[in-house]
Amino acid sequence: MCGIVAYVGNRESYPVILKGLKRLEYRGYDSSGVAVISDKIEVYKKQGKVAELEESLLGIPMKSTIGIGHTRWATHGEPSDRNAHPHISKSGRIAMIHNGIIENYAALKLELLKKDYTFSSDTDTEVLLNFIEDIRKHNACSLEEAVRIALKRVVGAYVIVLLDLENPDTLIAARKGSPLVIGIGKNEHFLASDASPIIEYTKEVVYINDYELAIVKGNELILKNLGNEVITPFVQKLDMELAAIEKGGFNHFMIKEIFEQPQTIFDCLRGRLDLTRSDIMMAGVEKYIDELKNANRIIIVACGTSWHAGLIAEYIIEELCRIPVEVEYASEFRYRNPIVNKGDVIFAISQSGETADTLVAIERAKEQGAIIFGILNVVGSSIARISHAGAYTHAGPEIGVASTKAFTAQLVVLTMMAIKIAKEKQTISEGRFVQLMEELSAVPDKVAAILKDTYVVERIAAKHATASSFLFLGRGYNFPIALEGALKLKEISYIHAEGYPAAEMKHGPIALVDENLPVLFVATKDAYHQKVISNMQEINARKGKLIAIVSAGDHTIDALTDDIIEVPEADELIAPIINVIPLQLLSYYIGVSRGLDVDKPRNLAKSVTVE
Ligand code: GLU
Repeated sequence: MCGIVAYVGNRESYPVILKGLKRLEYRGYDSSGVAVISDKIEVYKKQGKVAELEESLLGIPMKSTIGIGHTRWATHGEPSDRNAHPHISKSGRIAMIHNGIIENYAALKLELLKKDYTFSSDTDTEVLLNFIEDIRKHNACSLEEAVRIALKRVVGAYVIVLLDLENPDTLIAARKGSPLVIGIGKNEHFLASDASPIIEYTKEVVYINDYELAIVKGNELILKNLGNEVITPFVQKLDMELAAIEKGGFNHFMIKEIFEQPQTIFDCLRGRLDLTRSDIMMAGVEKYIDELKNANRIIIVACGTSWHAGLIAEYIIEELCRIPVEVEYASEFRYRNPIVNKGDVIFAISQSGETADTLVAIERAKEQGAIIFGILNVVGSSIARISHAGAYTHAGPEIGVASTKAFTAQLVVLTMMAIKIAKEKQTISEGRFVQLMEELSAVPDKVAAILKDTYVVERIAAKHATASSFLFLGRGYNFPIALEGALKLKEISYIHAEGYPAAEMKHGPIALVDENLPVLFVATKDAYHQKVISNMQEINARKGKLIAIVSAGDHTIDALTDDIIEVPEADELIAPIINVIPLQLLSYYIGVSRGLDVDKPRNLAKSVTVE
C-alpha cells in the first residue's frame, strides 16, 4: 500500500514524480505530496487524490532535478494534509517518504519527546524521520550512517526514501517488507514501488532486497547491507509494455481489465497447455513434482479475492489429486501457531506477490520445513523470491483495485496445476486429463462470448443499483464464486452483500429475504443443478428478487424471473472461471451507475503491504 516515487538525474524531477504518482495511485489515494530541493527542501502535500495535488501546484515553479513523491494509504493518522507525506524533519533539512508501518514507533516517539522533539503529524513516519535526524546529530555522522543505525532499532515494514539538504544530489533509500525498484537511466535513476512509473524511461531495473540500503545519485547507484558492506546490484530487464498500464480507451481500468480476460487467460495457458503432446508444461511444478504428488497436505494461504481462488482450488485438487487441502486466511494463519510438517506444501496466492500477511505466513511455514509454491502475478516480487518454486499468472499489470483478470488467471494456473499433478499421480484417467485440457483451452473464447454482449448484465445492474443489500448463492465449485461476487459488489458499489452456499441459506440468511432483496444464484449446469433450482424456489416463495446465472439454453427457471444471464456451458471444474465474468460486470455497472470511482473505491488500496 502507498505508492512512492523518487527521481535523481538531469531532468526536472516534478513532472516525472507526478506522472509516477498517477500510475501508483491504485496503491493508495487518501493524500499525496512531493518534496524537491531549491535552496531549501520544499514540501507540497494535499489530502485527496493526486489530481488535487497537481491542481494546487499549477503555476508553482519547481526547478529541481531531485525529488520524492508519495500517494498514501493511511495507517497511522487520518487522511489529511498534515499526515500526508513527504514529512520533513525538525531541522527542515531531511524529508522522507515511507511505505509501511513502524510498529515500535510509540516507544521511539517517547524517546524523542523526552528530547523535546515535537510532531506535526500523527504518523509513524515522522517519528522514524526524526529518530534518524537525532542519530545523525548525536553521532555527527552521515545520513546514510544514521539511517543504518536507526533501522537496526526499527520493528516493522518499510520502504523509505530520504532527501537531504546536506547532499542535494543524493537519495538514500532502504527497504524491509515493502517493495522498491530502481530504474537505471543515462545519468539518472528512478525509484518506485513498482515498475509502472519507470517503464517509459528505462527497462533496466534493480529490485532492492530486504535490509538493503541504496545510495543513489544521477550517475551512481551504491547498494549496501545494514552491515555497511557493498553489494553488487543485480540488473534485470523489465518485461512490461507502456500500453499495459494505460486505459486504452476504456473509462476505467477495471472494465479494461475485465475485457482483457480472453487475452490474459490465453496468455496464461500459452506455452503450458500442449494439446498436441497431451501435456501441461509448468517448470515449477515439474521441478517439485515428487513433493507435490506425495504431499501429505496442501495448505493454501491467501487474502481477499486470492483466498476465493484458493477455495475453488481446494475443491479441484481434492477431487482430482486426492490430496487433503486446507485454505487459510494468511492473516489468521500467521498468528495462530498452525501445525506445519515436512511433507506439507504451501500454495501462496497473491496478485502483487507483496501481500504482507501472506509473506509473513509463508516465511513461518518455510522455517517449519514446508515447500512453498507461489502463484503470483508480479514477476520478481517478494513472495516469488522466498518461494521454492511457483507459477506466474501472466495477467499483466492489474491497476483496478478490485481484482478481476488476476483472479481468473489464478484459477487457470491452479486448475492446470491440479490437472498436471493428478496426471502424474495417476488419480485421473488419460481421457479425463485430455478432456480438461480441451475445456481449459476453450475458456478464452467462452469469456469473449460473454463480453461480446453485456446488455443483459447492464440492464440487471440498472434495475438493482439502488438496492441496499444483496445475497449471492452458489454450490460446489460455484460457492466461492458467490463469495467473490459479493466481495466485488461490496468493494465497488458499497452495497452490503453476502455470499453463502445455496443450501446453507436455510440456516440463517433466508431470514433476510423479502421483496426488496436481490438474490443472485450462480446456477450453471453441474451436479447440484436440481438442488440449486429448489433453493431458488424457496427464495421465490418468499418474494426475493431472483437473478440467475445459467448455462446457455437452460430455460428451467424462466418462469421464476426475467433476470437471467446466460453463459457458455463448461465442465463444472472449469465453469467458475467463466461464471465470475458476469459478476465482475455486474459490480462494475452498479458501481458506475451509483456514480462511484470504481478504480479507487473508498478505504481500499491494492497490494496490501501492511498487516
Ligand atoms: N504508516 C505510514 C502512514 O500512515 C505510511 C502508510 C503508507 O504505506 O501509505 O502515513
